[in-house]
Amino acid sequence: MKLQPGNHVLYIPNHANGDRNHPDCEEGFITSIKKLWGRKEFAWCRYWSRIDPTRLRTTSCSEMTPMQNLVKLEDGPAWLPFQCMNCNGSGFVSHYTYDGDDFVGAKDCPVCHGNGRLVVYRHDHLAYWPGGPFAGKLDGKYASELIEYETTKRTVKALAAPPA
Ligand SMILES: [Zn+2]
Repeated sequence: MKLQPGNHVLYIPNHANGDRNHPDCEEGFITSIKKLWGRKEFAWCRYWSRIDPTRLRTTSCSEMTPMQNLVKLEDGPAWLPFQCMNCNGSGFVSHYTYDGDDFVGAKDCPVCHGNGRLVVYRHDHLAYWPGGPFAGKLDGKYASELIEYETTKRTVKALAAPPA
C-alpha cells in the first residue's frame, strides 16, 4: 500500500536489514511526501522521542526519510482529530463580565484556541494540530476516538457499496 501523510510508520535503517525489532528502528508519522530532483520521493517524518515515548523528538521540523526505509504500522493513524468538547467545535465561548451577569460577546475558546478541533496522539497526548504544541493529556481518548474513526470508515464503505 502506498504511504500517505498521516500514516503511522516505522523507520528501519539500512543496517537493520528489514528487522522491525532492531533497536535502531524509530516510530513516527509522515507529515508530507515530496519528490526531489523531479524523480525520487522522500517522506518528511516526525519521530517519537525514544527517551520519553509520549513526546515527539522534534516538534518544529520534520526529518527527511527515504521511502524505502519506511513501513506502515497498522494499529491506527498516528493522530486523530476530534471536536473540542469545551465549545462543541465552534471555536467560541460566550464571554461574560467578571461578576458573571452581563453577556459581553463571544471570545476564542481557551481549550482549542479557537480552532474548534484538537488532535489526540496514540499515547493520549493532545495537541492543537498534528505536530503542533501539546495541549495536555486525556487518558483513553485515542482508543475512544479510534472506535469512532473505524466506525465512520465502515459506514462510509457501506454507503459507497452498491446495493445488493
Ligand atoms: Zn474549543
